Amino acid sequence: MKKFARKNVVILGATGSIGTNTLRVLRKHKSKLKLIGVSAHSKDRMLAAICQEFKVPYASLTDAKTYKRAKLEGLFPSETQLLGGSDALVEISTLVAADIIVLGVVGACGLKPALAAIEMGKEIALANKELLVLGGSFIIDAAKRSGSLLLPTDSEHNAIFQCLEGHSNKDVEKLILTASGGQFRDTPIQKLDSVTPADATKHPNWSMGQKITVDSATMANKGLELFEAHWLFNLEPSRLEVVLHPQSVAHSFVQFIDGSILGQFTPPSMTFAIQHCLLYPHRSASVEPTLDFKQSMQWNFKAPDLARYPCLKLAYESLNNGGNALAIYNAANEIAVERFLIGSINYLDIPRIIEWCLSNDNNSEATSVEALIQVDAYTRKLATAYKAHSV
Ligand code: NDP
Ligand code: MG
Repeated sequence: MKKFARKNVVILGATGSIGTNTLRVLRKHKSKLKLIGVSAHSKDRMLAAICQEFKVPYASLTDAKTYKRAKLEGLFPSETQLLGGSDALVEISTLVAADIIVLGVVGACGLKPALAAIEMGKEIALANKELLVLGGSFIIDAAKRSGSLLLPTDSEHNAIFQCLEGHSNKDVEKLILTASGGQFRDTPIQKLDSVTPADATKHPNWSMGQKITVDSATMANKGLELFEAHWLFNLEPSRLEVVLHPQSVAHSFVQFIDGSILGQFTPPSMTFAIQHCLLYPHRSASVEPTLDFKQSMQWNFKAPDLARYPCLKLAYESLNNGGNALAIYNAANEIAVERFLIGSINYLDIPRIIEWCLSNDNNSEATSVEALIQVDAYTRKLATAYKAHSV
């Protein structure tokens, strides 16, 4: 293995949950990792403080109003060049000096900057799951062409990536993704339609952004992760399984054809997976203590009940149908979650909206990123127009 050379890091979404955990890893490994670019949407003061602390040369604010105001107020340190506008994310993800881009933005806005960085052959720490869900085949093809290394940062895919190293796909029987089951795993099903946004944004184990926390409750998150796994590890849907594991310490398993099952285990914190990606292929001391087997622990596993988690059932159907279904599922879910969070629909309208948008799929397959973006935009309109009967 080559000696570790200091890596220049760019974080898209530095003010979010993935961003904040990445900063913790950078503080721990200052001699190995240097932050050269950061982005936020509208948290300008927080971004300015990050630039101050890490002496970051480039920062970008994607919300136009916030960018203008921050510029006027001189909020950022003088050594930081502040970028704004729709191409700001592409600018900082294609900085010539950048070695690895942490994709910690939420939603489809990561697609263009990620593709641009991949085309330049940069390493990508891939947290943003919408990227593969929306542009899977294009991203994988671009990475193959440029030799860009896609390092899965989502804890399940990072676990699988670690378990697969040194093994061939032909020896893999299946991948088993673990899922906490979210905050309503024990709520009686008939009470689900009256849960509130405040209830749905509290996760029992993980501290994450709002959207992904709601997705964990509905298990649309696991649906998106099935899509991600399909693209990253090139396996057909029948070889992708989900198991409920409320403690969130077993992050996923790989079952081989000889019956052996490998897993990866840490406490539920993203710093472990993020650090694995940033220092890859090297290892170093972790930010937080890991599991201690001197303390007694209980780990449980059980199959998910698809009646409780209709979003998971719809995800399997979408994966089997292929084509534009994954992009439609993702866009419909994004709008449905937004609408749920502002109180315009009930919790169980989330799967209803996804199902309705999928029923409008004409079974075609977009052949370019631009066409996919159109499918995404059209689905958002449909999902926004959906009239919920329950509210
Ligand atoms: P957060 O909501 O905590 O953070 C999102 C980040 O993206 C913030 O920096 C935010 O800026 C920025 N952002 C928001 N909207 C836009 C926009 N329109 N254009 C550009 N930037 C924007 O999300 P998470 O960190 O939880 O999640 C990020 C991604 O990682 C998601 O795709 C999620 O599914 C995935 N993921 C997250 C995990 C976690 O533990 N959180 C685990 C595994 C995957 P601002 O703060 O200014 O609004
Ligand atoms: Mg995950």
